[in-house]
Amino acid sequence: MFKINENYLKLPGSYLFSTIGKKVSAFQAAHPEKSIIRLGIGDVTQPLAPAIIEALHSAVEEMGHAETFHGYAPDLGYEFLRNAIAKNDYADRGCDIAADEIFVSDGAKCDSGNIQEIFGLDNKIAVCDPVYPVYVDSNVMAGRTGIYDPSTEMWSDVIYMPCRAENNFAPELPEETPDLIYLCFPNNPTGSTITKEQLQEWVDYANKVGAVIIYDAAYEAYISEENVPHTIFECQGARTCAIELKSFSKNAGFTGTRLGYTVIPKDLKCGDVALHSLWARRHGTKYNGAPYIVQKAGEAVYSETGKAQLRQQVAYYMNNAKTILDGLAEAGYTVSGGVNAPYIWLKTPDKMSSWQFFDYLLENAGVVGTPGSGFGPSGEGYFRLTAFGSYENSVAALERIKKL
Ligand code: PLP
Repeated sequence: MFKINENYLKLPGSYLFSTIGKKVSAFQAAHPEKSIIRLGIGDVTQPLAPAIIEALHSAVEEMGHAETFHGYAPDLGYEFLRNAIAKNDYADRGCDIAADEIFVSDGAKCDSGNIQEIFGLDNKIAVCDPVYPVYVDSNVMAGRTGIYDPSTEMWSDVIYMPCRAENNFAPELPEETPDLIYLCFPNNPTGSTITKEQLQEWVDYANKVGAVIIYDAAYEAYISEENVPHTIFECQGARTCAIELKSFSKNAGFTGTRLGYTVIPKDLKCGDVALHSLWARRHGTKYNGAPYIVQKAGEAVYSETGKAQLRQQVAYYMNNAKTILDGLAEAGYTVSGGVNAPYIWLKTPDKMSSWQFFDYLLENAGVVGTPGSGFGPSGEGYFRLTAFGSYENSVAALERIKKL
C-alpha cells in the first residue's frame, strides 16, 4: 500500500494568494459596480521588451530548420547564456564566478524550493521574518521544521530572524547557530536591503560557524543606492559559504516565460564533497530546465539594446514605487521600502491586524494589497503594496487611499 509524504499535510491553511483571490472574488460578486485596483500579487505587468521578443522570434525560426534545431538543453544551460551571466552579473562587478558555476533553470521559485534537497534533514534553517514563503514551506514539506504552533504561527525547528522597524527590517545574527541561512535582499515583502558591510558580517559568520547562506537576489535590478550589494559574491569569502538564486522575472518580465539561475561556487564544500556536484544531479536536469528559445531570450537581456530597454522598465516601476511611497507618507502612513525594491511596506494604522487592513482597504477603497502576516509572524501589523501595476493605477489607488 502506498504512503503519502505526510509532511505535505503539515502546511497550515491555504496559500496566501489563493485566500486573497477568494476574498476579492467574493467582494466583486457582491459589488459588481465597484472597480478594483490590484496592488497585491508580485507579478509584472509590462510586456516583454522588444529586444527579447526579437530574440524569441529568431530562436523559434531556428527550431524550424534541421541545421539549427535544438533538442535537450545542456545540463547547466547553454554556454552563450552562462557566459553572458558570468560577465554581466559577476565579472563586471569584480566578482569571481565562472560560467560553469552557474546553473540555468526555469525560475527562482523552483530553485529556492528544491535547493534544500541537497542538504540533510538534520540541518537547522534560519529565515528572515517576514520573507518569501517558499523557503519555509519547502523545508516543511521536506520534514525539517518540527512542530507548528498555530498560536504563534511558528515552527519549532526554524530560527526566525525578526525584521521589523526596530532593526530597520534587517536581520540580526541569531543566538542559536543555524546550518542553512536564507537571506533575501532586496527583501520581499519589506523592500528593505542591507549594506555591503552588513552582508560581509553574515558571510564571516557563516564561514565561522560552518553554515551555508542561500542568498535570493531576485530583486537585485531594483537597487538604486550605492552601498547595497548586487550579489553576495561582492563579499570576501562568499565562495566558501554561499549559494545565490537569481530570477529573470522581475528585471525582465519573465514571470510567464520562466528563466532563472543558481550559482554554486566549486569552493563550497562539506568535507571533500562539493555542493556543486550534488546540484548537478538535481531534478529536472535536461528535461525540466529552460528551453533553448527561452535561453536565447535570456541572452538578449544582456545585449546593449536589451539592457537599455529593461532599465526603462525598472525605472517605470520604480517611479510607481516613489509615487506610492511619497503619497502614503504625505497621507500620514508609516511606510518603508520602495527605494531599492518594487515593494512598499506599510504599517497598518490604528493597530489593525494585517488581514483587518486588507478587508478595510478592499471594502472602502477597492484596493487589493497583501497582508504582511502572510509572509511570517513578524509581518503582522504590516501590509505590502507593489509597484508592478500601471502608473495610472498606482496614482488612482493612492488617491482612493488618501480619501479614507
Ligand atoms: N524569489 C523571491 C524573493 C520572489 O519574490 C519570487 C517571486 O515573487 C521568486 C523568487 C520567484 O521567482 P521566479 O519567477 O523566477 O520563480
